[in-house]
Amino acid sequence: MKKDPNKRTILVLSEEESSLQLILEPLRWEGYDVKGYTSYRDFSEAIASYHPQMVIVDPELGGRDGVEIFSQLVTILESCSTIVTSAEASTEKITQYLDLGASDFISAPFVPLEFLARIRTQFRIQDMRDELIDTNEKLQSLVEIDDLTGLFNMRSLYQKLDFEIQRARRFSRTVTVVMIDMDKFKSVNDGHDHLFGSYVISEVGKIIKNLTRSIDIPARYGGDEFLIVLSETPTKGVEFFCERLRKKVEDTVFSQGIDTIRLTLSIGYATFDINEEIHAKELVRRADMALFEAKRQGRNQVIEYRQEFDRIYKKTAA
Ligand code: GH3
Ligand code: MG
Repeated sequence: MKKDPNKRTILVLSEEESSLQLILEPLRWEGYDVKGYTSYRDFSEAIASYHPQMVIVDPELGGRDGVEIFSQLVTILESCSTIVTSAEASTEKITQYLDLGASDFISAPFVPLEFLARIRTQFRIQDMRDELIDTNEKLQSLVEIDDLTGLFNMRSLYQKLDFEIQRARRFSRTVTVVMIDMDKFKSVNDGHDHLFGSYVISEVGKIIKNLTRSIDIPARYGGDEFLIVLSETPTKGVEFFCERLRKKVEDTVFSQGIDTIRLTLSIGYATFDINEEIHAKELVRRADMALFEAKRQGRNQVIEYRQEFDRIYKKTAA
């Protein structure tokens, strides 16, 4: 879709007032939001306040070498298109401007229609780049996010957990993995339609999201199972968090249309010990074992991993 030129801000720098007007005039015909400057200082201040989409500069200022001035200028430019226009159009200079990062070089004097076509070309490239960034962000979220709950999915979780473990080791901090599984969830599907079951999973996802902090990593592990990575939370804080989550779900009535249910959760957790060489999979396995113990002890409860579970269950890492 073609963008309104009014929404494109272009800042122009040229020392000579008459040359500045020659650049500004065609841009105004086309309807761009243009601002012109004859002083380098005013121009650089304007960049900081307007965040333009494009700058057009004639860098031959005050008898100094334009390439030298342009190389200073590129350090303050954000990700906008940068056009150099100058009567000093030797192959050597043009090459230097382009190598320093100029998007295009237009030798002066120029034919206004060709000049405008070159400006439009730069905006087309900019739009394609913006669309690409946007699409990449969408793809990234499709790869990392579980559609039903909006929480992270299992694929992205292990990568993030590995990173958290490395960070925790470096800064001598804690990382806890909390595994959560809904109790008797099959009966929800048996007594109601499958869509209602999915609705309940998404509502539990919302509760988890609301109870976690921005530095935590809440994920849907699959089916009716969730996993949360809590960073920098002392044991008391982890217990408090898990108990609050268990109670919140126990106290919630899930209803949609004629379907209404109450539900409980079993929760197991394991905390990373900085003195141990432990990997993400092992920490998850330990939390899973604690969850298994919570189920075994009658469900609707929170259990912390203990080493004796290894002997009891003799489970090995996946
Ligand atoms: P337990 O207390 O032992 O966990 O019993 P449970 O019935 O919850 O058993 P389990 O956790 O082993 O099985 C989870 C069930 O959740 C299996 C399936 O019927 C249901 N389920 C898993 N994913 C979905 C989903 O996306 N939508 C719906 N509606 N149901 C799901
Ligand atoms: Mg279950």
